Amino acid sequence: MSAAIAAQRTAERSGLDCSITLLERNTHPGTKIRISGGGKCNVTHQGTPAELLQQGFLRINERRFLRNALFGFSSSDLLELLHSRGVETEVRPDGKVFPLSGDASSVAMAFEELLKESSVQLVTSCRVKSIERKEGKFHTAAEGATYTSDVVILATGGVSYSKTGTTGDGLAIARKTGHNVKVPSVALAPVFTIKAPPFTLSGVALRSVALVASAGDHSVERRGDLLFTHRGFSGPAALSLSRDIAELIRENGGALLFADLFPEHTPAELEKLLLNHATKHGAQMVRKFLQICPIAPVKGAFNDAPHGTIPTALVTFIIRHALIDIDVTWSGLHKEQRQSLLSVLKRFPLGSVREIPLDQGEVSAGGVDLSEVNPKTMQSRVVPGLFLCGEVLDYAGEIGGYNLQAAFSTGWMAGVNATKASIC
Ligand SMILES: Cc1cc2nc3c(=O)[nH]c(=O)nc-3n(C[C@H](O)[C@H](O)[C@H](O)COP(=O)(O)OP(=O)(O)OC[C@H]3O[C@@H](n4cnc5c(N)ncnc54)[C@H](O)[C@@H]3O)c2cc1C
Repeated sequence: MSAAIAAQRTAERSGLDCSITLLERNTHPGTKIRISGGGKCNVTHQGTPAELLQQGFLRINERRFLRNALFGFSSSDLLELLHSRGVETEVRPDGKVFPLSGDASSVAMAFEELLKESSVQLVTSCRVKSIERKEGKFHTAAEGATYTSDVVILATGGVSYSKTGTTGDGLAIARKTGHNVKVPSVALAPVFTIKAPPFTLSGVALRSVALVASAGDHSVERRGDLLFTHRGFSGPAALSLSRDIAELIRENGGALLFADLFPEHTPAELEKLLLNHATKHGAQMVRKFLQICPIAPVKGAFNDAPHGTIPTALVTFIIRHALIDIDVTWSGLHKEQRQSLLSVLKRFPLGSVREIPLDQGEVSAGGVDLSEVNPKTMQSRVVPGLFLCGEVLDYAGEIGGYNLQAAFSTGWMAGVNATKASIC
């Protein structure tokens, strides 16, 4: 939708009489927008394009690729467009931007209205089967008709949440037209463990911990809130790390998960703190201490609890994993037991993961190789006249509105440049 609107506006500005057709397999475009952000649509993130790139895209090549698009059509441009259609927005304290109405469909409807106002022809319930380039023209075969055009924009999305229409058709089309397509893999997904966490922990949140996944000599980690669910883990840390975990599993056949409850302290620093505490409070039960112990405290401020305390439900499991007596006091704790407690606090075992289903991800990584697309125009370097945008490309952003922004920005850039290319 973003690409079609930008293409139309560029044509109008250039005084070009061109016909733009948007082919959509669903009965409406924007199905994913409607379910995004739990139905509230985290449409973008507040900040400059540079800030969005930095916070939203952890891989350098993806950040580099998206730079021009995010500067070309920024979050302020997107918000201006939405505001012009009467969609007021609010910025949450964490910088996430949502429509004020709390209704994701208001964003999809605004884009549909913009489409209607322009002379873009929207053809719904129309699944594209193939795109071929013959004698300088594109022939797009869809159910019931073939469309001929000078340029084509492929904006078919990723492969997760396939019920929304994203079954990977665009990737097959890109591959057939000679592009290198990286195998799709999951991102922003909940992580299910082989053995579910104890049911008493379901719903428990660990604030600002580090989630660590390791396999063989490799490990990956992410700092953030972690939520125990009845099948594994969710929350920002799990969602953000799921892409790396999936890669670790692909290379090693599985991965083990741990939570570091003191990510800002090295084992040596934590040992010193525990020893100090033990010396001063010998009669205190370790269990009692853990119940009031800050979780993920800041270095140098061990007694402050900006992220709350260790959840009581977790304490029994810490004691159990550390193999210490439930009623042991600090003075009754041997050195080995203290070290065992320390290692559980730094590496609380969360279980083993074997697979994260692709369809569960809010986005999919993988897709058309970024090196085959010109980041200044979104035009394919393999097939001139073919433009690509959005999740069909091999990038995946973090939670926070970055993925929709990237789709809108790359779409806008593709639209502008596809029209320009059709003039030439
Ligand atoms: C549950 C969920 C929640 C999300 N929440 C957020 C959020 O709050 N904030 C955020 O930034 N991101 C969010 N995302 C991610 C975001 O929605 C996507 O990254 C974004 O929609 C990608 O845009 P796109 O245009 O590339 O693809 P899509 O939005 O997936 O659109 C692709 C379109 O192409 C159509 N299509 C596919 N194949 C064909 C074909 N063969 N012929 C015709 N049409 C076809 C599809 O039907 C679809 O309409 C969420 C995703 C999910 C699944």
